[in-house]
Amino acid sequence: MTSETLFEEAKRVIPGGVNSPVRAFGRVGGTPRFIERGRGAYLWDADGRKYVDFVLSWGPLILGHCHPDVLEALMHQASLGTSYGAPTRLEVEMARMVCEAFPSMEKVRFVNSGTEALMSAVRLARAATGRDLVVKFDGCYHGHSDCLLVKAGSGVLAQGVPDCPGVPGAVVSSTVVLSYNDTQAFEEFMGEHGREVAAVVVEPVAGNMGVVPPERGFLESARDQTRRHGALLVFDEVITGFRFCYGGYQHISGITPDITCLGKIVGGGLPAAAFGAKAEIMNLLAPVGPVYQAGTLSGNPLAMAAGIATLRVLREQDPYRELARNMAVFANGIGQAAREAGIPVTVNVMGSMATVFFTRGPVRGLADVEAADTALYARFFHAMLDRGVYLAPSPYEALFVSTAHTPDIIDRALAAAHEAISSLSP
Ligand SMILES: *Cc1c(COP(=O)(O)O)cnc(C)c1O
Repeated sequence: MTSETLFEEAKRVIPGGVNSPVRAFGRVGGTPRFIERGRGAYLWDADGRKYVDFVLSWGPLILGHCHPDVLEALMHQASLGTSYGAPTRLEVEMARMVCEAFPSMEKVRFVNSGTEALMSAVRLARAATGRDLVVKFDGCYHGHSDCLLVKAGSGVLAQGVPDCPGVPGAVVSSTVVLSYNDTQAFEEFMGEHGREVAAVVVEPVAGNMGVVPPERGFLESARDQTRRHGALLVFDEVITGFRFCYGGYQHISGITPDITCLGKIVGGGLPAAAFGAKAEIMNLLAPVGPVYQAGTLSGNPLAMAAGIATLRVLREQDPYRELARNMAVFANGIGQAAREAGIPVTVNVMGSMATVFFTRGPVRGLADVEAADTALYARFFHAMLDRGVYLAPSPYEALFVSTAHTPDIIDRALAAAHEAISSLSP
């Protein structure tokens, strides 16, 4: 098997054979599939096997692989050069589109990854408030920068590494981790220490411990408490940005953060991410202000071209209702099949993202997530892979659908799920 050979070779020259840990199938066992190509809703591996892709590069590909508009924009830009290290018209257009879609961002800066966006947002919040303390919530992932890599969801959960060697204790000591959706504990903390807090950072819909929606009052309290204590509210909308509507979860919840971070969809499948806020805050950044932040490839023209093409399609086609319907059919269908087979299951669905947890619900936070049957997920994952359906190789992840996932494709993948579930029965 070619993937097997490639994995052996990869392990000799790349730690664990992968450039991002969750790709290694550590949590589900077996050999990661080495991918040769993708088109629409499908992936093909090095052995020529075809899969319906419900990972979609972990979220970015909301239009599926090789959407013609994105491809055309990329080919055109590639023929003009791939990077100049000087400003371009594309960056202006992309920034205008993002600021129009997110009125809470009067100005935006582009970076290369979600990690960078969050790292920069925290620096900015600390500079703006003159405080150090950062509050985050367990199970939320905000990239792998030092101060945010504490109880950080999927990748870290999957490795079973709660605290990461190499992150100085002094850095971690300025991060406070509270429980997602535990509004009371949050308010107690803010009541005592609110005046020391620079930023409260939150995934408005958690997606990195699997999908866990915010409970009523949780985000409202985050907004209210930060305002009351002079801290900044940072929404990490790297997954949720342009996911449920042409905008963010802030538009759906009606709760407006001070700083917003974007990534994934906004890069159209290329490495781009962004952070933005009111002009007054963003003007603290160099070269206007004293807060340094930079990047050789930031605002890269290929990434901007892919991002602009993706956002245009989303704005013009408004595919969100259809995406949500297709995701609900697939995820709830799996839930139904599991229930009929007597397997305890809870399905959390939000628009085009969902997680099937093998546990008696509800799943409201990290403790519930960790109670799910991960061995059963691993068997389900492989049963689906054998039937040509590519799910996230970890029980703590979201599934995604794209506009290329037609009802037909969903039905066939669901039929595979019924077979896969039957094959699990003891
Ligand atoms: C993926 C993700 C990140 C990190 O983005 P990278 O581009 O992988 O660095 C940060 N926050 C959230 C919510 C994410 O889902």
